[in-house]
Amino acid sequence: MPEWKRAVIKVGSGLVTAGGNKCSTKYLLDIASFIMECINRGKEIILVSSGAVASGLSTQPQLIGKKHRTIPEKQALAAIGQSLLMALWGRLFDLPCAQLLLTYDDIYNRNRFVNAKNTLMELLSMKTLPIINENDTVAVDELKVGDNDNLAAYVAVLADADLLIICSDVDGLYDADPHKNPAAQLIPRVDMIDESIYKLAGGTDNTIATGGMLTKIQAAEKATCGGVNTIIMNGTKRGYFELLLNNIICGTIFTKAEHPLKGKKHWMLHARASAGKIYVDSGAVNALVSKGASLLPSGINKLSGEFNAGDTIEIIFAGGEQEIIIAKGITQYGSADLKKIIGKKSQEIEKLVDYFYSEEVVNRDEMVLIKREEHGNNQ
Ligand code: GLU
Repeated sequence: MPEWKRAVIKVGSGLVTAGGNKCSTKYLLDIASFIMECINRGKEIILVSSGAVASGLSTQPQLIGKKHRTIPEKQALAAIGQSLLMALWGRLFDLPCAQLLLTYDDIYNRNRFVNAKNTLMELLSMKTLPIINENDTVAVDELKVGDNDNLAAYVAVLADADLLIICSDVDGLYDADPHKNPAAQLIPRVDMIDESIYKLAGGTDNTIATGGMLTKIQAAEKATCGGVNTIIMNGTKRGYFELLLNNIICGTIFTKAEHPLKGKKHWMLHARASAGKIYVDSGAVNALVSKGASLLPSGINKLSGEFNAGDTIEIIFAGGEQEIIIAKGITQYGSADLKKIIGKKSQEIEKLVDYFYSEEVVNRDEMVLIKREEHGNNQ
């Protein structure tokens, strides 16, 4: 494994509760001593820990086993459990632990994203251990990242980490479901995350964990595309951490993209959900892909969805039955105005929409080309 200086370590609820209904040090002791050893060797660590809801549950036995908990119930459990979780981690370290609770808004909104980064950097320079979780007490489902695998990937890119370690209770990615197929083989290394890798991920069978292998692969894709090597490993096995200290990986490593996307482009591609689609002709595709051009109204032939100026949209080429996503970018015109200038020359914009903001619908600097087969090898 390549040398690394800064890592994000994600610990799942299953490890925090050791498979039971309350916080436990069973697996966390070994994880904490691994973290301390890394820090003693001059590395920087950011911890992303799940387990707030699971920890809160231990104090409210009437809710254990309840299938559909209400949103206020879940939020209350997270509020109770988060302090238990921090207290548990705090007992395992000799250095100050700093709590950061993030929501999807902090990822989606670029100002808040940059703010969170500044705070994280300050915490590392103060020699503290930042411990991050989703702010479950205020974020309702639609406003959530939803799982800490993806959250940890966002954090890894945000913090310019060189390594993301996702600790779970499985050994890594298998070529078949190891619970059902005893012949399943662990895949030690993945250099490109494509559909075939996603097909290997089933859902989660664990009733405590939010993510299964799917969210871990999504996380690996986000992180590797942003230049962060990602390991999925079994956090219940002490020996694996000892080997990792000697650069031996027991698990699956997803290697970072050769030409990672950094900063705003990565954020645009992975943090911003698409609000609509702009369909373009083959001339526009050629200009975008081969000439590094911006998107002009003349190359657009159709829209789908309603969106505002400043929203993220996908730029699509429709060839026959197939839709190909060419790029993702931030539109300078909302769909209502854009409808009036589809296929028109830039000089006509002012006349058609009564104002002129820019001759480009999507500026090149606000756009990221999508070439999935090259694994984030973008522009
Ligand atoms: N944020 C949730 C919690 O701490 C966990 C989300 C996850 O398991 O991915 O309870």
